Amino acid sequence: SKTVTDVICPFCGTLCDDLVVVTDDEGKKILSVENACAIGAEKFLHSSDHSHRVTRPRKLQEDGSFKEITYEEAIEYTAQMLVNAKKPSMYGWSSTNCESQSVGHEIAELCGALVDNTAAVCHGTTLVAVQNVGIPSCTLGEVKNRADRIIFWGSNPAHGHPRHMSRYSIFPRGYFTGKGQKQRKIIVVDPRCTDTSSLADVHLQVEQGYDYELLQALRAAVRGQELTGDIIAGVPKEKVYEAAEMLKSGRFGVIFFGMGVTQSLGKDHNIDAAIMLTKDLNDYTKFSIIAMRGHYNVTGSGQVLGWQFGFPYSVDLSRGFARYNPGETGTIEVLKRKEIDAMFVLGSDPGAHFPMQCVKEISKLPSVAIDPHITPTTSICKVHVPVAFVGVEVGGNCYRMDNVPIESRKVVEPPEGMLTDQQFLEGVLKRVRELKAN
Ligand code: SF4
Repeated sequence: SKTVTDVICPFCGTLCDDLVVVTDDEGKKILSVENACAIGAEKFLHSSDHSHRVTRPRKLQEDGSFKEITYEEAIEYTAQMLVNAKKPSMYGWSSTNCESQSVGHEIAELCGALVDNTAAVCHGTTLVAVQNVGIPSCTLGEVKNRADRIIFWGSNPAHGHPRHMSRYSIFPRGYFTGKGQKQRKIIVVDPRCTDTSSLADVHLQVEQGYDYELLQALRAAVRGQELTGDIIAGVPKEKVYEAAEMLKSGRFGVIFFGMGVTQSLGKDHNIDAAIMLTKDLNDYTKFSIIAMRGHYNVTGSGQVLGWQFGFPYSVDLSRGFARYNPGETGTIEVLKRKEIDAMFVLGSDPGAHFPMQCVKEISKLPSVAIDPHITPTTSICKVHVPVAFVGVEVGGNCYRMDNVPIESRKVVEPPEGMLTDQQFLEGVLKRVRELKAN
């Protein structure tokens, strides 16, 4: 057998980079995975079991069945679809490497597409807030080594990012945090009792949809202002004061926030307030704020879009230049307005996560889904192109939730003859150029 060390886990935004994967002598089958959480280990072991995988592109037939086609035919269909559409959408990008994202964006520019990533339904509001008020942030390494005050707001890493707490936030012993959890105070803000809140020193059980009020109350309490009313956003006033004092008395603190606050009432205004709370706390101690990004490379998608077009998501290239107006140029909005006439999906599953109205609209359009798995999206798209798993069968660059780029490693060969995202996209780009030249 062979052992591959320092493997990154291509599942969640924690992007753990200490996995040890043991393969057979030929490097074809994964035998065991060490250090990963249950979700991460399953991703490796499941991808290595080829018996259930689709290994060649498939085209939807009129009777609802799928017929196998070649990669060349899939490239031709995709290129023709994108070139002939007036306003195609190219959505997803969060479960692939930055190299593929960059090629995909080149195609989008040539075809005047709307290019968008999964931030549209998770941390897009965060990106808007960062543009509004800036962001005082740090790396997860700094959190591990320095942070003695941790807030989890609207996120439940015990389930969503299982090793976050042991590697970076609650338990690890760092350079200035040698006593680990004993040296840290944890605040969890969540309307529900969760496995994360059970570890908290203070659990602020905010009333559902009142995060903005609680954030502003905490800001006032931190500044020593008097709060009116005994209960604020479902939390007793004394608990708000207690939390404020706990935060101010630390040496280094960090707010981790998730979709419980980015997608609840108030949206980007909640994040504005969370960032302003972080800034306020810097009058008393050192404080940072980090978004709990979900897909392993959704952060990279925002980065690459940022370098290429200046905006991190919902970029509309249909007028020949980049326009960005979330709420108008987002994929969900254009699908609802029936504005797009072709759908390309890579590295995401809108069929499982978009509103039903949008899913129905996708099913009516010429469409291609690039995904190693069979998903609700691949089941409604006209063509499904299976590809190699990034981070397992092909390497490439990915960005962790704190915007640190990490090179992923290839640990096994993909099934014979299977293309990677990047190879497929390069084929489409070449064909799009030929069609445009004619
Ligand atoms: Fe993978 Fe996330 Fe688990 Fe780390 S915490 S092993 S990145 S799924």
